[in-house]
Amino acid sequence: MTISFEPEPEFQEKLNWVERFVREELEPIDHLIIGEEARRLGGGHGVFAEDRLDFGPKFAEHIKRLQEQVRAQGLWALHLGPELGGPGFGQVKLCLLNEILARAGIAPRIFGTAAPDTGNMELIAHNGTPEQKKRWLEPLMNGEFRSCYSMTEPHAGSDPGQFKCRAWREGDGWVLNGYKWFSSYADMSKLLIVMAITDPDKPLIERASMFLVPRETPGIEIIRNVGMLHEPLGHGAHGYVRYNMVRLPADALLGKEGSGFAGAQTRLSGGRIHHAMRAVGICNQALEMMSERVLSRETKGSLLSEKQMVQEAIADSYIELTQFRLHVLYAAFLIDKYRAYTREVRREIAAVKVSAPKVMQSIVYRALHLHGSLGASNETRLGRMWMNVPWMGIVDGPTEVHKVTVAQQVLRKAKASEGLFPSYHLPAEIERARAKFADLIERDLSAY
Ligand SMILES: Cc1cc2nc3c(=O)[nH]c(=O)nc-3n(C[C@H](O)[C@H](O)[C@H](O)COP(=O)(O)OP(=O)(O)OC[C@H]3O[C@@H](n4cnc5c(N)ncnc54)[C@H](O)[C@@H]3O)c2cc1C
Repeated sequence: MTISFEPEPEFQEKLNWVERFVREELEPIDHLIIGEEARRLGGGHGVFAEDRLDFGPKFAEHIKRLQEQVRAQGLWALHLGPELGGPGFGQVKLCLLNEILARAGIAPRIFGTAAPDTGNMELIAHNGTPEQKKRWLEPLMNGEFRSCYSMTEPHAGSDPGQFKCRAWREGDGWVLNGYKWFSSYADMSKLLIVMAITDPDKPLIERASMFLVPRETPGIEIIRNVGMLHEPLGHGAHGYVRYNMVRLPADALLGKEGSGFAGAQTRLSGGRIHHAMRAVGICNQALEMMSERVLSRETKGSLLSEKQMVQEAIADSYIELTQFRLHVLYAAFLIDKYRAYTREVRREIAAVKVSAPKVMQSIVYRALHLHGSLGASNETRLGRMWMNVPWMGIVDGPTEVHKVTVAQQVLRKAKASEGLFPSYHLPAEIERARAKFADLIERDLSAY
């Protein structure tokens, strides 16, 4: 058995390259975006959609060149392994990469690993026909357009038992009708993957199917784009969408009819661990910022770093982050080992999905707090990091649902007691031990 915490030297070299590239090339683009957002808001033009990156053609060329550099390093779209037709080399290495990419909001675009495209590619890779892969997966892997995953409904959240959006066969094809909520990037995507109920009378697990829906199909209405906590009303990337009797050809069906719920598990499991990987990176950055600050700020006769309560904040953050990081790596290791979302894999993914917002809440909060008024201001990245906390506990299923998954999997391995007292009841254990060693012990042990 070998457990190693060190990547092979060749991969470590790649990570070093990524670290430099993210710091020197991508973090400045993030700052440009933050500045542009502020400028536009000042001018009353609303937030700047970083996904559109509309700085003009010269800048678009620059982005392409950066993507080319990533391809030349063999680091493009690494979330898909060769078994799914991708260039990836496993989730553990992806973890190490994503930790670094989390430093820059623009990084997933430059590395071809932006959500929700990553999960959507996985879904098509697993379930698509060769024609569907050619039409949608290949260009998605090349970063030619964006895609959207349209599952959650406004009245139902992500509980499939409550879904109302329906699809039924008509003529040679399908008709899709209903509402979806929080369909991220719906209006800027070329492809929408929509989950709809195809047979409400079937058992829950077979009721829904998924459809590949081109954005330009008549009948798709973006009622509005919903924003996140920090975005002004009317701005955001999460589509409240109406599918109004949308007509689709027969080959729009992704996978088998009735396989939608199973497909969703595949899609969401990958997305969940990728969020956890990025959470490691964000927490790491918060710890770095906190450390720099406490080594620089002096109050009441000493540096903050010399005060024991501050040291406790640093130590607790380091310990929580290291535990969380190792757990994420373990979940990634299991995915690589089984190459499938087995029960064991789902348990660990659910567990890290639960931990991610909790660890972020505690570490980012400490970093923010130790920066005092500067931390509470909009002049560091800490505010943006903090805004990630609430949605991390909701996206891809709320914390409670994942805790149920963990508990169920843990309890599967346990057994109820057969008698009145548990199997580990000491009086019975002592009796059994005495019986086991009866031949060896020559004294009377019958009284306690
Ligand atoms: C940033 C972001 C991006 C998203 N992107 C997409 C996307 O691209 N496509 C898409 O389809 N959806 C997307 N979603 C939606 C996401 O999948 C849902 O928000 C999530 O599944 C929860 O559904 P809900 O928001 O309706 O909350 P609800 O289901 O109403 O849950 C609300 C709260 O109720 C409690 N709760 C819920 N279920 C249980 C339970 N079983 N036991 C105990 N308590 C429970 C929890 O506290 C939960 O937070 C996105 C959400 C966010 C925040």
